[in-house]
Amino acid sequence: MSKARLTLIAASTAALAATTLAAAPASTDAAPTEHSWTQQSEQPGQARGSSYLPNQREKAQNARLQKNLDTAIAQAAKEQASGQRKPLAAAVTVYYDDSQAPSFDSLIDQGAAIWNSRVTNVRLVEGNSSNASLSYYEGTDPSGSYYYGDGHGSGYVFLDYDQANVYAPLRIVTHETGHALGLPDRYTQPCSKLMSGGGPGPSCTNPYPDSVEASEVDTLWRNGFAASGTFSKVG
Ligand SMILES: [Zn+2]
Repeated sequence: MSKARLTLIAASTAALAATTLAAAPASTDAAPTEHSWTQQSEQPGQARGSSYLPNQREKAQNARLQKNLDTAIAQAAKEQASGQRKPLAAAVTVYYDDSQAPSFDSLIDQGAAIWNSRVTNVRLVEGNSSNASLSYYEGTDPSGSYYYGDGHGSGYVFLDYDQANVYAPLRIVTHETGHALGLPDRYTQPCSKLMSGGGPGPSCTNPYPDSVEASEVDTLWRNGFAASGTFSKVG
């Protein structure tokens, strides 16, 4: 495995702001440069990252993901109330590529199986670099693991070695994958919630979304790849 090569490291934690943190995904040549934090940092409010631990980085992304979720839930409720609820689209397949995260390979596959066992409107299927919209990378990053992307099946998950030595690795993987499926961070919630991430501390090892989180993902994917919120595709 190759260690991550950081292209930019924030000078100090105190100096971190939502738009100034910059770290490329692991691996030297496979990093999707169009997703780089350096580029995004020039557009305040446009950052699309979510971290495993509370961090300034994810504020804009969380707000966006929550807004999209609210929109999807409101739309579903409206359709149901009017009796015009559209038939569900067939389950969408999101292909993922974990070839750049070899030490997490089996955990990533386990994480996909967990999500597939809990939701019905979207399926995670292992693919490759040519057909995958979601990629996984591994390495070291001062701010730990994170997801970067549109929250609707695209982008990449970065998995941090040091964090995975302290926090339950499978929970990290399923949590970050939860972001890729559209869920925001809710660090103050209990360990029973997957999207509380590192909030409950290292002793929390639960890798499963609860029924509410699973239902939210199904709502977000009712229309397949056509999102009902304010997504803007990256890559
Ligand atoms: Zn998170």
